[in-house]
This record gives sequence, structure tokens and C-alpha cells, in this order.
Amino acid sequence: MELLFLGTGAGVPAKERNVSSVALQLLDERGTTWLFDCGEATQHQILHTAIRPRRIEHIFITHLHGDHLFGLPGLLGSRSFQSGETPLTVFGPSGLRAFVETALAVSGTKLRYELNIVEIDEGVIFDDDRFTVIAKRLDHGMTSYGFRVVEKDLPGPLLVDRLKALGVRPGPIYQQIKQGKTVMLDDGTVIDGREFVGPPQKGRIVAVLGDTRFCEAAIELARDADVVVHEATFAAAEQRLAHDYFHSTTKDAAEVAKRAGAKQLILTHISSRYQGAAALQLLAEARGVFPNTELAADFASFPIPREK
Ligand SMILES: [Zn+2]
Ligand SMILES: [Zn+2]
Repeated sequence: MELLFLGTGAGVPAKERNVSSVALQLLDERGTTWLFDCGEATQHQILHTAIRPRRIEHIFITHLHGDHLFGLPGLLGSRSFQSGETPLTVFGPSGLRAFVETALAVSGTKLRYELNIVEIDEGVIFDDDRFTVIAKRLDHGMTSYGFRVVEKDLPGPLLVDRLKALGVRPGPIYQQIKQGKTVMLDDGTVIDGREFVGPPQKGRIVAVLGDTRFCEAAIELARDADVVVHEATFAAAEQRLAHDYFHSTTKDAAEVAKRAGAKQLILTHISSRYQGAAALQLLAEARGVFPNTELAADFASFPIPREK
């Protein structure tokens, strides 16, 4: 599991930072990639990475501002040309369907795969046996969502050595023991499966938040997260500006991570007014509040290890 940033700028593309998009690489977990936002030229950015568009399974759009959305029709079309045949689901606010369907229809773009568009509300928007994704509304003037990706705990490993020591040989019985059932062995001995399974491996939590002012919903989404991706459009001194434009400062983002008890914060959506030393200043401001902070750059990747 790894976050790979494709665009980390705010509002308009800049040479150093393209507009918003970040990939959550789930290659080991499910052999797929999930994208969060798809600003213009996201597909061009992808060309510089190992991401395969046909492996993109889900795209989560935080909100419908162009710097988070305008790359979507192009990427959807190219995925079809690049032999993408597996279904793709795009989640996002109301209006997403009209935007995508209009763009595809007027340009005569035909997709050779099944495209599902899900206009979301708050709550659980995706759930399967490995992951749950929860959405909540943030505070950005227009509807803007944050997403909390929760990996389910993995059952503990079967303690094979202990079973072998008891003379239990591999077979269908191992499956029952792994499920924690009580089973009777051939010699009549009854064993409790739970005693032969190691502790579960804790799942990871990743929060990717759309544009927002400092708000309570962001803290709830980021609660105990392994990683929080939060916008920091402005320096701490520009609190007034951030508030007026429904954005966050470095300190707002850091305060969210701190109050949420998160493990790591990654700042993104950086205004092009901050370059070089000024960008490092942003990082220093956030670290003053929440030390384990990083500043995203285009093509920067951040592995998300499992807790030992
Ligand atoms: Zn934006
Ligand atoms: Zn926005």
C-alpha cells in the first residue's frame, strides 16, 4: 500500500506542481490502483509512473472544481484505448454523472469497459471483504468530500508448527481451525481452534480529504489514521485569506492531524506562490504543530507500512 502523488498544486497547473490527483496503490492488497481526484493532465502525469490505467479500479472525486475534475474524461477515454476492459467505478458529488456523460457523449467517446458512476452522500460508499470507504462533507463553499479508507483487519496466521507438534497434519481441518472452530482430532482429542491462530494483523487507515477550511468532519475522517492527506493552500499567516476562500493553512491541516491522533500528515494542494524556501517554510509551520508531517511533491511516493 502506497500513496503516489500525481498533482500537488492548487487551482491552476504550475511547472513544478500539476493540479490535484493522488493514487493509492493497492497492488499487493487487490492488484489495483485507486485514484483520488483527477485534475487536468493527470493521464500525462501517469505516463511518468508505473501506474497502468487498466488497473485503475476506483476514482474518488472529492469535489467538482476543475482542478480536481477536468482530467477525468480524457483518462476514461484513454483507459479504453489502452485495453482497459475491467469495470471502473467513479464516486463523487452530485453533478458528476452529468459532467462525465456529457463529456463522453458530445465527444463521441465510446468505452469498451463498464463505467459505473456513483453520486455519493455521506456515509459508507464502498464496502467489500477487504476495504470500507467512508465519505463526509467538508467545508469548501461547494460540496466537497473527504474519504476515509479503512482496510479490514486480517485474520491471524495459522500456527502450523504448533499443530504439527500435536500431530495434526495439513488438510481440510486446517481451514476449520483457522476459522477458530472447536474440532475433534482422529484420536478423539478436542482442540480449540482459537488457540492455534496468531493475533490478527491490524488494517491500515488512510484519509484523503478534499479542499476545505478547518472543520470537525476532517478530524473525524482522520481519526487514528495511519496517513492523512490534507490540503494546505496557504501559509499560517494567511489565515484570513484561507478562510475567505474556503481553504486551509498549514496550521489548520496540522491541527486536524493532531486532534485526530493520526500517525502521519502529508500536505498537498500547495499554491504556486510558495516555491523553494517558501515551500519548506510551509513544512516547518506544520511540523511546529504536528511533527510527523511531509510536504507532497508531484511523483513523491509514501509507503504505508503495516503496524508491527
Ligand atoms: Zn482545488
Ligand atoms: Zn476546490
